[in-house]
Amino acid sequence: MSECLFCKFANREIPTQVVYEDEHAFAFRDINPQAPTHVLVIPRLHIENLAAMQTEHETLMGHLLWVCAEVARQEGIVAEGYRVVLNTNRAAGQSVFHLHFHLLGGRHMTWPPG
Ligand code: 5GP
Ligand code: ZN
Repeated sequence: MSECLFCKFANREIPTQVVYEDEHAFAFRDINPQAPTHVLVIPRLHIENLAAMQTEHETLMGHLLWVCAEVARQEGIVAEGYRVVLNTNRAAGQSVFHLHFHLLGGRHMTWPPG
């Protein structure tokens, strides 16, 4: 989608701090980190959020979770533990409408989330 910020990151139209990329996925550091590791994992395909997910995206979504696990390994946060968050629509806190997994780690997390 031409006006989408995250599409522009994935297309390298706007520079960002990339931590992983492949044919289907792209991962970069959050500009306002909520933990020592805060990476956003996105599909190259523009999908608004989980509510817009179709059956044809099932394999892609599984791959994005694998990328979260792979970046967690790269970041050295596996043994301590990490959290993967997917905000869907406004009440959940979604502010950018290109699907993204938040990968958070490097500090203790509380439950339930706010
Ligand atoms: P959401 O609130 O939609 O779940 O998450 C959007 C995330 O995108 C936020 O954590 C926010 O800090 C991050 N974000 C917003 N604008 C930018 C930007 O220009 N660059 C980067 N790297 N992250 C951004
Ligand atoms: Zn997009």
